[in-house]
Amino acid sequence: MERTKFLLDEDRLPRSWYNIVADLPVPPAPVLHPGTGQPIGPADLAPLFPMALIGQEVSAEREIEIPGPVRQAYALYRPSPLLRARRLEQALQTPAHIYYKYEGASPAGSHKPNTAIAQAFYNREAGARRIATETGAGQWGSALALAGAMFGLEVKVYMVRASYDQKPYRRILMETYGAAVVPSPSPTTEYGRRVLAEHPDSPGSLGIAISEAVEDAAGRDDTHYSLGSVLNHVLLHQTVVGQESIEQMALAGEEPDVIIACAGGGSNLAGLTFPWLGRTFRGGRRQRVIAVEPEAAPSLTRGRYAYDFGDTARLTPLVKMHTLGHDFVPAPIHAGGLRYHGMAPLVSLLKDHGDIEARAVHQLPSFAAGIQFARTEGILPAPESTHAIRVAIDEALEARESGEPRVILFNLSGHGHFDLSAYEQYLRGSLEDYEYAAEEVDRALAALPGVATG
Ligand SMILES: *Cc1c(COP(=O)(O)O)cnc(C)c1O
Repeated sequence: MERTKFLLDEDRLPRSWYNIVADLPVPPAPVLHPGTGQPIGPADLAPLFPMALIGQEVSAEREIEIPGPVRQAYALYRPSPLLRARRLEQALQTPAHIYYKYEGASPAGSHKPNTAIAQAFYNREAGARRIATETGAGQWGSALALAGAMFGLEVKVYMVRASYDQKPYRRILMETYGAAVVPSPSPTTEYGRRVLAEHPDSPGSLGIAISEAVEDAAGRDDTHYSLGSVLNHVLLHQTVVGQESIEQMALAGEEPDVIIACAGGGSNLAGLTFPWLGRTFRGGRRQRVIAVEPEAAPSLTRGRYAYDFGDTARLTPLVKMHTLGHDFVPAPIHAGGLRYHGMAPLVSLLKDHGDIEARAVHQLPSFAAGIQFARTEGILPAPESTHAIRVAIDEALEARESGEPRVILFNLSGHGHFDLSAYEQYLRGSLEDYEYAAEEVDRALAALPGVATG
């Protein structure tokens, strides 16, 4: 193990990404053109993405080979560790076994480089010089800035204002990797200027930042757009996580009964769980899969399964997903990576079909779980990841109460070293929960595009 790590031996990594579309129990809904309402074709996406990624977006092939340079870059930090949380189990006095896959050991600190590296590679191959993107908490921006540095691409990041103010060190990390970062809404795009004119104090949202990045990319020949979650090809790239976990659980001699991940756009959940779900769909054992989202942005538990835009300015195609409405602006919780109005279409479809469960949790009990995890296991989790830990702990406590042991596997999607001000607020008692803004969501849902969802 040490030796292969030392040699950066990519032979130990999966050779292909797993595409769940090949095994889905029901076919995915088509993606629609925002103007015509008709299904879009690859040519519609060509101004924004390289053809290789568009091909993956619409592929139904079960296995898609990972290019050599991508596997070499993965080998910097993959395979990621699978660990058993024995001290946490002891502290909880639970008969449950708790395992976690740790994605925080990547250079950017989360699972996001798994797709950033692949996207930078394909953009570079297609001749793009520059990529524009959005970032919530700054994790995605950091990952793409890192990947841009690896493959020689300029990176421009529109960073949600609330996070830009809360997390200056994330911005500095992106700039250190060579990216240019502006707070969103920004005065550098037409849409940003429009939002600022109406709401000078706007905390921003992922929906607004996406609109700005898409406008930037669409307006320049040398620039493509890149998204850190939600899209099929992003979820696809994350499946290295779940494939590794299948091998690693086999080495541990156990099978999970319940698999848990936090869900913002759905990519880390998909990454860990899709390879397991695929085995189930092909006739294997069934595991419970739980997506955990914040009470402040509860798209899976309280949103509507309908066609909606991916962004606030309605520039993106329409996708069928669980949504809170494209102009919903969630409360500024610290789990910035979970503040998105929609959910990946593939994750939404599985939820609608009853293949996965969803739970919403507040940020205070999530931080409490994160601190218990730090004090027992030593790793300081990202605020997003604490949502998964909360539910993993609740499952372990349930096992204690009911006397039904179980094997729990969750995705520890990132570390929280840049989120210490949030931890400080929690420790000082000044962090609050936000009530779910039911009227806000009703208002945003009323603005859903009128597309027949038959
Ligand atoms: C971005 C992020 C998430 C949420 O994004 P998904 O697309 O749902 O994976 C979760 N955890 C961390 C650490 C993140 O950076």
